[in-house]
Amino acid sequence: MYDYVIIGGGIVGLSTAYALVRKYPDARIVVVEKETEISAHQTGRNSGVIHSGVYYKPGSLKARMAVQGRNSMVKFCQDNGIPHEVCGKVLVATDKEELPRMEALYERVQQNGLNVSRIDRDELREIEPYVDGLAGLKVPSTGIVNYKKVSEKIKELLEQAGVEFLLGSAVVDITERKEEVVIDTTEKSLHSRYMINCAGLFSDRLVKMAGIHTDVRIVPFRGEYFELTEEKTHLVKGLIYPIPNPDFPFLGVHLTKMMDGGVHAGPNAVLSFKREGYQKTDFHWKDTLDVLSFPGFWKMAGSNVKEGMKEMVRSFHKKSFVKSLQRLVPDIQAEDVVPTDAGVRAQAMLKNGQLVDDFHIITGKRSVHVCNAPSPAATASLEIGKEIAKKLPELKALKVV
Ligand SMILES: Cc1cc2nc3c(=O)[nH]c(=O)nc-3n(C[C@H](O)[C@H](O)[C@H](O)COP(=O)(O)OP(=O)(O)OC[C@H]3O[C@@H](n4cnc5c(N)ncnc54)[C@H](O)[C@@H]3O)c2cc1C
Repeated sequence: MYDYVIIGGGIVGLSTAYALVRKYPDARIVVVEKETEISAHQTGRNSGVIHSGVYYKPGSLKARMAVQGRNSMVKFCQDNGIPHEVCGKVLVATDKEELPRMEALYERVQQNGLNVSRIDRDELREIEPYVDGLAGLKVPSTGIVNYKKVSEKIKELLEQAGVEFLLGSAVVDITERKEEVVIDTTEKSLHSRYMINCAGLFSDRLVKMAGIHTDVRIVPFRGEYFELTEEKTHLVKGLIYPIPNPDFPFLGVHLTKMMDGGVHAGPNAVLSFKREGYQKTDFHWKDTLDVLSFPGFWKMAGSNVKEGMKEMVRSFHKKSFVKSLQRLVPDIQAEDVVPTDAGVRAQAMLKNGQLVDDFHIITGKRSVHVCNAPSPAATASLEIGKEIAKKLPELKALKVV
């Protein structure tokens, strides 16, 4: 009998195991992962940014956990010798229309208690000499890291602490009983006191397996990236972001320095016809049907046709993608960027077509389900883990919606 079975070996599952084993060193814990390696999906395919918490609604879980999570992630990297860099980022207003939005964002970050300053065109150029902007915001506390490396370190610490790993084993059924929860995998059945669902792109299916009804469905959005050729990486010194559109905060391509010395450009956001579909041509009938049969998808698509089309065009037309980058750094030309690995975001959506903005965690009788953990969940992962560990023995109290 296990004390805790954690489903999903991404950074949220690993951080949850880490928090639990630190709190309950004698607990019997197993992490179940369907792939033969950890962090093969969102965690291993993201932008590698340690976010500061600029964008998030004051008072939300995201706002709190991004700020705390940024600090605990940097500390974890320092304590464990994981290469990372607090390089800072600039948000750039490129036309007059964006200036009031920039101002509104500045006000919001004050409420989140962040150290952010307004900068003019010259100061912008001092930080990023190739940026062309009217003005900007400087966020010194943003950093970069390779989250796969963070995950590997957490796994090493977990193994040292006696946590078991069942890799290459997919969860296919869940039965919650009064005294235990039974988790059937493709290898064997596991009996546990509690179960935590951290299955990312498949979290909604596991909620359903556990017999819990929710209005939430995961809709997968592929984020496609280009990278600058080696000769052009000098055009970007750190992290260059546009001023976000509050209606579509996760849209807007940015330029990101990576830990391997490269510079990523992107991502865009297009509907993926496969939950783990990293190629434009990837298709999976069940995943597609899941989206198309969900009323929320049609409501969202109906009211966002223009933005959706723009993202599609950017996906198939390199020149359009490059044009978005040129708004930030005009010297970037089409021949300076080459396609690189894509990622797929697990974005929860409600039946009314609204995207679930905040982290979303629900509970069953003996289970906790992380139903929405999009960006900045890698940054916030250690805090999400702590929150789950803190609440687990008092399961009924955890109803974070
Ligand atoms: C393109 C992109 C860019 C991003 N950039 C950033 C960034 O710069 N900074 C940041 O903080 N966040 C970023 N994010 C968000 C961040 O990567 C995710 O929020 C985070 O990785 C989520 O971790 P997770 O453990 O929940 O999910 P995952 O890493 O997807 O892990 C879930 C795991 O569950 C496993 N699983 C699923 N179903 C089953 C099953 N039935 N049985 C067993 N195992 C199962 C999967 O194989 C997978 O390994 C980005 C995301 C994307 C996609």
